[in-house]
Amino acid sequence: MKAMKQRKKRAKKGEPQTVTKAVTHIRLEAANPGKLAALDQLAQVFLALTQQYVALFCTDELPDGFRAPCFPTPLSDRWHRVAMQQAAGIAQAWRTKRANAYQEYLDALAEYQEHQTAGTSDPAAKAPKWREWDVPTPRQPCIQANANVVKLEAATESSFDGWLKVSTLDKGTPLLVPIQFSDYHKEQLTDPKTGQRRKINSSVTLNKRDGVWWLTLSYTETVTVQTPPDAPIIGIDVGIANFLTTSDGKQYGSFHRRLRERQKRDREKRRRKARLRKCLEKQGVPKDKLPSTSSATGQRLIRHVRQAINRAVNLCFEEHEGCQFAYEQLSVASMRHKARAMNAYMRASNLGHIPDQIAWNATKRGVAATKVKSAYSSQECHVCHYVDRKNRPNQQTFCCQVCGHTTHADVNASRNLAARLHDAELRACTTRHEVKALLMRRHEQWKQIVGLVVVQPPVCAASRTPVSLAQRG
Ligand SMILES: [Zn+2]
Repeated sequence: MKAMKQRKKRAKKGEPQTVTKAVTHIRLEAANPGKLAALDQLAQVFLALTQQYVALFCTDELPDGFRAPCFPTPLSDRWHRVAMQQAAGIAQAWRTKRANAYQEYLDALAEYQEHQTAGTSDPAAKAPKWREWDVPTPRQPCIQANANVVKLEAATESSFDGWLKVSTLDKGTPLLVPIQFSDYHKEQLTDPKTGQRRKINSSVTLNKRDGVWWLTLSYTETVTVQTPPDAPIIGIDVGIANFLTTSDGKQYGSFHRRLRERQKRDREKRRRKARLRKCLEKQGVPKDKLPSTSSATGQRLIRHVRQAINRAVNLCFEEHEGCQFAYEQLSVASMRHKARAMNAYMRASNLGHIPDQIAWNATKRGVAATKVKSAYSSQECHVCHYVDRKNRPNQQTFCCQVCGHTTHADVNASRNLAARLHDAELRACTTRHEVKALLMRRHEQWKQIVGLVVVQPPVCAASRTPVSLAQRG
């Protein structure tokens, strides 16, 4: 069970938040195999139409699930609309992700050019390049249907829990698939407060994975935020060495040695398989006879890491009862920065899972947790606001080049995140460039207030020379 949708806006104390919870893995089984074949047939046509609209909405038009139908299909008008709306959702998510990535690229390019002009660029550094994204193609059949085309109906006889009534290509002949809930599903679908069956949302999802059809139902729950607005603020920095580091100096979970070793073994296994594939391909072995490149151990490893993340987030919330949280809105750039040690699929699937898990824990516990901008949070000095990559002489250490403030790098970052919770000026910044300019202005103000001038550039960590500062006047 997990949160599908959560309100993005920051919730205030006493304000109800609605959470949509999914009930997954309800297996569709039919005594009559012909029934599910009709569903396969429908899915094929549906997927093809969805793909046409995805391409349209990603390239030529803005996503609009209510536009006039423009592709021929044997599907009914209702199914046509469902396909178009699903495509609009896929295209919108793709456009948002692409726009973010493109902005990150522009920021990286601007930073590169700044260094070029200032003559401070690393000779090995290359200008960032933009590679245009491909239009997304769903691999497995997935149908997000509404009650116009798929309906869950209560069973009148006792042997089943319900019927799924699916309208098909054969108009007027709906498909009826019996639904049987497991004890686990029944428990999820019962409100523990009232003991009553929850109201199931009318939209359902049908997925086909490895030849099996699965149904996902959902229900909406209201959770009230209990955190008072003046509750202590805990900043959370997200990373690999430590999954969570809090601004009070605690650390939770880690991508530790055992996981690292498993990951390495899995990577080698996949490389060997890829080489074998190539070899067989050259010998003219047909594609469907080649060994698969997807890895079961890889999937297991991802699950294992996610469980470790979930435990870490749980413990962090338990140990900070009565607090509110500020955590980072991970950007592509900060993920890249944080995850050099991981390979691509681990990075994509797991770093993003940490903030999701924080949001989910906060919602289900009625605790206030707010995403804040992460730009430069790892390079900014928490004391004097000076921003410099050199403030991080290595992965663990933060040592300010100006004021000499020295601490664990992740603790410095989490304190910055905590301070950003009520920072309206910083929230108003729209680019990384603006964030940096604001922080440097604050640094100038800090210098004026403390009346300090740097007489010689301090050297940190690497040589362990103390930082020298001289009082002005
Ligand atoms: Zn400083």
